[in-house]
Amino acid sequence: MTRKTGRQFFANPGPTNIPDSVLRAMDRATIDFNDPEFTAVFDQGVAGLKRVLRTQGEVFLYTASGHGAWEATLQNLLSRGDTVLVLESGWFSEGWAVMANKLGVQYQTVSADWRRGVDMTALQAALKQDTTHKIKAVLAVHNETATGLSTPLQDVRAALDAAGHPALLLVDTISSLGSLEFRMDDWGIDGVVGGSQKGLMLPTGFSFTAVSAKGMEAHKAADLSRHYFDWSVMMTRPQRSFVGTVPTSLFYGLQESLRLIELEGLDQVIARHHRLAEAARRAVRAWSGNNGPQLFGLDPARLSDSVTAVLMPDGHNANAMRKIALDRFNVSLGGGLGKLDGQVFRIGHLGDLNEPMLLGTLGAIEMSLRLTDVPHGRGGVDAAMDWLAAA
Ligand code: PLP
Repeated sequence: MTRKTGRQFFANPGPTNIPDSVLRAMDRATIDFNDPEFTAVFDQGVAGLKRVLRTQGEVFLYTASGHGAWEATLQNLLSRGDTVLVLESGWFSEGWAVMANKLGVQYQTVSADWRRGVDMTALQAALKQDTTHKIKAVLAVHNETATGLSTPLQDVRAALDAAGHPALLLVDTISSLGSLEFRMDDWGIDGVVGGSQKGLMLPTGFSFTAVSAKGMEAHKAADLSRHYFDWSVMMTRPQRSFVGTVPTSLFYGLQESLRLIELEGLDQVIARHHRLAEAARRAVRAWSGNNGPQLFGLDPARLSDSVTAVLMPDGHNANAMRKIALDRFNVSLGGGLGKLDGQVFRIGHLGDLNEPMLLGTLGAIEMSLRLTDVPHGRGGVDAAMDWLAAA
C-alpha cells in the first residue's frame, strides 16, 4: 500500500464529510443515557431535528441506518395485505417497494423513466382509478440518490388533494434533508424517513421517522409485526425512541451539527447546496462536448442539488475512471447502483462542503477522464469556477 497524502476528497453522496467540530463533540466518555445531562442533549437534538424537518409532529429514532427507518415507517403505519403506491425514481424507490412487499404489503408502481422521474399525470391517473381507496400510502423518494433527480413533493401532495385521496404520503428524505428545501407540515407529509449520515453531517448510526397527527392515528390500526421498531413501545420509554441502548455520542454530534446548520442558517445551507450543485452541472455540461459524459437527468427542473449522476459515453466504464480518481488523486466518487453500475458515476455535493473542495473533486475527475481516454470537452473546472465566482 502506498501512503495517500493529504486529506481524502470524499465526494460520495453519503455518508458525507463530518466537520471537525462534530468529530470533536462526539469524542467523549460514555454517559448513561438516562443521565439528566444526556436527556437535555437528546431533547435539544429532537427539537432541532423538528426545526430542520419543519414539523411539529412526532419523531421516533432508531439505532439503524436508513433501511431501519424505512422498515419502521412501513411497520408502524400499515397492515398485512394493504396496498401502497410507489413512485418509481430509481434504485432506492425499488428497494423500499421490495421491502414493503417482504413485510406483507402489496405494491403498485407509477412507472417512470429513471432519467426523467415520475410523470405527475400518471400519478393523478393512478389515484383517480383507485375509487375504493385500496391504496393506503404513497411512497416517494424526495431525492433519488442513485439518479440525481428529485421529486416535486408539492405536486405529489396536490395530486392526492385533487383526487380527494386519503392515502398517507410517506417520503424518504435520506439524501435531501438539510440539503434541499423540505417542509414536512406545509407540504402535508405524514411520514418522513431520514438518516444521520448525509445532510446532517454525522456518522452513520441513527435514522428516524417524523410522523404527522394523521400518521399517528393510522399507527393505532396498523398491524404489521414489529417490536424493536414499535412506536407504541417507544412511547413508554424515557426518550420516546429507541427500544434499547441509545447511541449517546451521536447526539453530542447532532447538537454540534445542528449548531452549525443554524449558525449558517437553514436557508443559506440550501442556497449553498444549489450553488455548488450548479457548478458541478456546468462542469459536466462542458465535459459532455466531444461526445463526452453527460448529466444522467434529462429534466433540468428535477436535477438534484445534493448529488449529480453522470452517464459515461458508450464503451467507457465509470468504475475504471473512479479507480484512477481514488488511486491517483485520493478522490472518492460514488458508483452507479443496480443497472447503472459501470455506466454512471456520482458526485456527492452535500453536507459540509465548500467551493475549493468541489473544485478539487471536479479537477480530479477531469484529469481521470483524460487518463482513462474518455472523450470529453475540456474546461469543466473553468465553467464551474466561472459560475462560482459570479454566484
Ligand atoms: N434512501 C435513499 C434515498 C438513500 O440514499 C439511501 C442510502 O444511501 C437509503 C435510502 C438507504 O439508507 P442506508 O444506506 O442508510 O440504510
